Amino acid sequence: MTTFARLGLNDTLQSNIKSLGYKKPTPIQEKSIGAVLSGTDTYAIAPTGTGKTAAYLLPILQELSQVDNSAEQVRPIRALFLVPTRELAQQVEESIALYGKGLNLRTITIFGGVRMQSQMNRFKRGTDILVATPKRLIDMLKQKAISLSEIKHFVMDEADRLVSMGIHDELKNILAAMPEKVQKVLFSATDSKALNKFNQDHLTRVKLVKGGSIQPALDKIHHTMYRCYRDDKTAHLVNLLTMLNSDKVLIFADTKRDVNFLTKTLNEQGFVTTGIHNEVSQKRRQERLTGFKQGEFQCLVATDIVSRGIDITNLYYVINYDLPVNNNDYIHRVGRTARTKVNKLESKKVLTDKAEKQAMSKSIVNKSFNPYSDPDQQIKVTNSQGHIFSLVCPEQERLVPLIIKAVGKDIILERTPWKLDK
Ligand code: AMP
Repeated sequence: MTTFARLGLNDTLQSNIKSLGYKKPTPIQEKSIGAVLSGTDTYAIAPTGTGKTAAYLLPILQELSQVDNSAEQVRPIRALFLVPTRELAQQVEESIALYGKGLNLRTITIFGGVRMQSQMNRFKRGTDILVATPKRLIDMLKQKAISLSEIKHFVMDEADRLVSMGIHDELKNILAAMPEKVQKVLFSATDSKALNKFNQDHLTRVKLVKGGSIQPALDKIHHTMYRCYRDDKTAHLVNLLTMLNSDKVLIFADTKRDVNFLTKTLNEQGFVTTGIHNEVSQKRRQERLTGFKQGEFQCLVATDIVSRGIDITNLYYVINYDLPVNNNDYIHRVGRTARTKVNKLESKKVLTDKAEKQAMSKSIVNKSFNPYSDPDQQIKVTNSQGHIFSLVCPEQERLVPLIIKAVGKDIILERTPWKLDK
């Protein structure tokens, strides 16, 4: 059996991993830790939720900790982790704190939505590690607030998203600000043409690693698509939530208007719900996400800003209020379920008055429906690690074949098993 010790990780990292309850490396960790430790450029494709973050953090933390920097007053940035969203940046920072405990490494995280001056002040003592979203990093570089001239390791997480953000020139400028010999490590859940082109242009002698195809993870997820009219979607959503009777459901909507509307409506219907979109302040976004993870909210309604890389343990149900236009986004939304479960956050069950509230609410639900009453479905569902429901209106039906192709298995567009009281 491959162990973390065999992969060459030092004692401190091994003990940190052990205290998190990780018994052995996941397949992507098994393949990439050695590659990254060898110093080669690495392109890793791995399904979401397979331990990608540790796969790139552990070897790089080890490399960084080998330099004795205890005497240095102002530390130069030696590793840069570029990520597409603020939430992911914060999550990577949290993972660095966990995996890198006792290594005496400093980390600074920068992203938009927070005053730049306050972030600049933090660089006075320098940092070993910088975690950044692209726009804020570029602004800081323009202001000459930071220097990337001593960078040794450059990681792009959710790299397919980063290269499709329309920031090609900015990425080039970021790369140009680093020494040519920097080690480049790209992690992505999905492969794309744009990413391959980027790799050809910027990486040398790349080691390609795959943590298994995306298929096995998707196989563990049950997909249900309901045909319905756009105007009826909210009523169908309330039916579905009532029948699922779960205290953790993630709902994706396309626009911030819908996020606000659904959050309000679901609360009125007795579901303790919060919402996230990109106009919610960073502080609130974090509070709401943490609240949802810890069980303070039964439902989180969000746009695709939470569809990538965010780790929510024990999430079984995801609902697409709208189908995503980009089928890769469907895969990422699906990836929020079926996460490797180790750091189980105890669900606080603050929803004690939920049943009461729901009973009092003016419900439009046909109470006799049980989504799992079909024995065949029951079997499939008990074997699955997640269940994703999509409400598909006629305008969105054209997206279904594309999603079926991306998922690699047939999904039937069904009639809802309940009738709406109109
Ligand atoms: P990630 O794909 O990085 O978002 O990780 C998904 C989840 O897997 C996180 O909750 C990690 O704590 C957990 N995890 C990472 N590596 C391992 C491992 N070797 N064994 C068990 N759980 C792990």
